[in-house]
Amino acid sequence: MTHSGNTIDWQVMADKIVPDARALMHGKRIDDCADTFDLLSPRDGTLLCTVPSCGQAEVDDAVAHARAEQRLGCWPRLTPRKRGEALGAWADAIEAERLDLALLVSLETGKPIRDAVEIDLRGVVRAIRWYAELADKLHGDHPAVGANDVALVSREPVGVVGILLPWNFPLALIGYDVAPALMLGNSVVVKPSERAPLSVLRCCELAVEAGVSRDALSVVPGVGRETGQAIGRHADIDSVAVTGAAATGRAIIRASGESNGKRVWPELGGKSAAVVFKDVRDIDAAAHAVAWGAYFNQGEMCTGCARVLVEREVYAEFLDAVSAEIDQLRVGDPLDWATSVGALTTDRQLRDAQLATEEAVLGGGRVLRGGMSVAPVAGGRYFAPTLLADAPESSRIFTDEVFAPVAAARPFDDVDDALRVAFSSGYGMGISVWTSSIDTAFRVTRAAKAGIAWINCFEGDDLTVPAGGVGRSGFGRTKGTAVLDKYSDVKTTWVHLGDE
Ligand code: NAD
Repeated sequence: MTHSGNTIDWQVMADKIVPDARALMHGKRIDDCADTFDLLSPRDGTLLCTVPSCGQAEVDDAVAHARAEQRLGCWPRLTPRKRGEALGAWADAIEAERLDLALLVSLETGKPIRDAVEIDLRGVVRAIRWYAELADKLHGDHPAVGANDVALVSREPVGVVGILLPWNFPLALIGYDVAPALMLGNSVVVKPSERAPLSVLRCCELAVEAGVSRDALSVVPGVGRETGQAIGRHADIDSVAVTGAAATGRAIIRASGESNGKRVWPELGGKSAAVVFKDVRDIDAAAHAVAWGAYFNQGEMCTGCARVLVEREVYAEFLDAVSAEIDQLRVGDPLDWATSVGALTTDRQLRDAQLATEEAVLGGGRVLRGGMSVAPVAGGRYFAPTLLADAPESSRIFTDEVFAPVAAARPFDDVDDALRVAFSSGYGMGISVWTSSIDTAFRVTRAAKAGIAWINCFEGDDLTVPAGGVGRSGFGRTKGTAVLDKYSDVKTTWVHLGDE
């Protein structure tokens, strides 16, 4: 990567951009959808563009071509190495266009441009490369079953898969879901979030330009209850991965049950907690990590650190340290390279942040920082990074996902008390525990009903480790080799050699 992005006038670049929101099918952009909707900028409330909303007809068309590719096309029949080469060329093409793509991500989500360049775009390129390199390194199995028989166990593509994306990291799952699904030979129909279709459309267009078969990848923009439901209900889709809110996961599971019973992989919301014990190794380092977990990406993270549980003896000191971290954050124009907290993507997030804060305060919670909307850019949706002390356990800020830069804290007296509160929401994305005691750390992580448990860190992450949740957070997995189970079936071929 050459240009770092910090010397670009992003406003000038944004003024020149002409977003293309047309659906991507058979390798072309099409615009025959009857319905459209307006995409408004989270940054300043202006119209970004009008987006077509694909209906049943467009989804049927995308699925018919995806199925034809499976029956007769080349994509599932290419050697894995060739598919890997196409994915590698795709990663190169994204890297070459990463600044334009990052600008689309920032404009549609409101996230700081610096995060879009350094986290979102870097992440998607790395992930696609990782799966490109894995393509020809997967092997089946050959169990020993006796002298006169041969058993071969192979991984086969599932067939036609639907992938429903959220808006908070629009491109992340292109790397973590779409790339491995394609690498295994599937045809993929992608539905981006209605809040963030532009970067996904352009990113997938680059895949087709780089050599992915044009019928193996379509992108159908649209709203959830129409386009998303058309995918969930479709009788010729074999599997659907849905990353979104808990209610959306349940809606897709219902749609599958009412159609062909396709597999559904839900990866849903979260309400992660940090549990800080009085023997925490370094209180400032812990506060820094917890603040990052709570306020990075405006708190719009499924693994976000929404609850902070602190042993009573260090409660006040720890909250002071987190407050000092908040004072270093800069809420501002997403197109300003120095901004660390940008705009909230949806009106709902802004409303939820306000309501949940008010409810917590009415119940006795104290606002230590933030607690109100701010306006670094007129017309935009911004909420100041907020730290609430003593929020009631029963308040929404403690029980439900708010998906905004609001962290709620409570003191605890012993491990059991901390565990009870940490898992009371039923969500099970992540938990982070901060202590010098290996015994305490493992008591917490062993009891954790969570997809990931961090000890003395928050968001320790790598492409090799699986990501996903348990309980209300769903059960689908992305990343590493765990994702391969979503997009492949295991087939046994048995050969009888006859008697000697
Ligand atoms: P969402 O549930 O509103 O939408 C997700 C996708 O499903 C979108 O493409 C949307 O159009 C579609 N959809 C919505 N309602 C639908 C319906 N009734 N039928 C069919 N499709 C429907 O989620 P969002 O607001 O875009 O994203 C934020 C949510 O995603 C948060 O809850 C966050 O925690 C979760 N998330 C989870 C993970 C994870 O790995 N578990 C990762 C990122 C985001």
